[in-house]
Amino acid sequence: MNSKLVLVTGASRGIGLQIARNLAEQGYRLLVTANADASLQALREEDFVVNGLGEVHPLDLANRESIEKFAAGRVGALWGIVNNAGICKTLGIESDAEDSFDEVLGTNLVGPYLLTKKLLKHVSRPGRIVNISSQLGQEGRADYAAYCASKFGLIGITKCWAKELGSQGITVNAVCPGWVDTEMSRIDMERMAKAEGVETAQFYDGICAPLELKRFNSTAEVANLVSFLMSEQSSGITGRDWLMQTVWNQQ
Ligand code: NDP
Repeated sequence: MNSKLVLVTGASRGIGLQIARNLAEQGYRLLVTANADASLQALREEDFVVNGLGEVHPLDLANRESIEKFAAGRVGALWGIVNNAGICKTLGIESDAEDSFDEVLGTNLVGPYLLTKKLLKHVSRPGRIVNISSQLGQEGRADYAAYCASKFGLIGITKCWAKELGSQGITVNAVCPGWVDTEMSRIDMERMAKAEGVETAQFYDGICAPLELKRFNSTAEVANLVSFLMSEQSSGITGRDWLMQTVWNQQ
């Protein structure tokens, strides 16, 4: 058991929830956040929260006031921060639809940037920062300009902060999953399958064919890597962007 306190943003479902569950199992205490009321309620019913290992807080990363309010609250001494929360919206350069660039950049990049800056004084030395980027933080995909810009940006921030904070013993790493089985990827996959006029299952097989593991990563596999990067055993690793599987050359 350890009693270190870690913040996980976007912990109501998917990757963030699994990261929080893993860390709680390892004895960390958690601050966990979500944005929507229903998500906050679901999080309050999670075992690790009910059992006193997690405190639930509202946080809207697209809203600076919300970030300031959270950071000004009773945060406590943090061992680590996992910047996990994110959204994915697609829009091609030639589309006439309303642009969502600011919303995606605000939530996925500016939000974590401001939050981490404001919380830095609470982070212990040594300490840990883990940013959940994406394979799309290393590679472009048609129609994903906003999402890619946010995730490339998060890797850039990771590398800068690693250099700034290394001498204080704070490591900063980015985790770059490819496809992971969550609500976000299911919505995406269904939309892409529909656009190609194929069944979702067939589309899934097509996406998986070039992957080394021939399947999506599970949330548990992402959470395992985060757990390692959060642990004391990872003290010599910083400024890296950890790609989990190769998904190059997809449209
Ligand atoms: P989900 O959509 O399943 O969950 C997203 C989480 O982020 C939810 O807890 C949600 O809370 C929270 N969130 C969304 N908008 C905001 C906001 N404005 N402020 C605060 N919290 C917010 O996503 P995943 O679990 O799939 O993704 C988690 C992270 O992993 C994201 O950063 C994503 O980009 C990244 N990723 C995902 C991949 C995948 O294939 N799934 C692949 C590579 C990276 P609420 O319910 O309250 O909105």
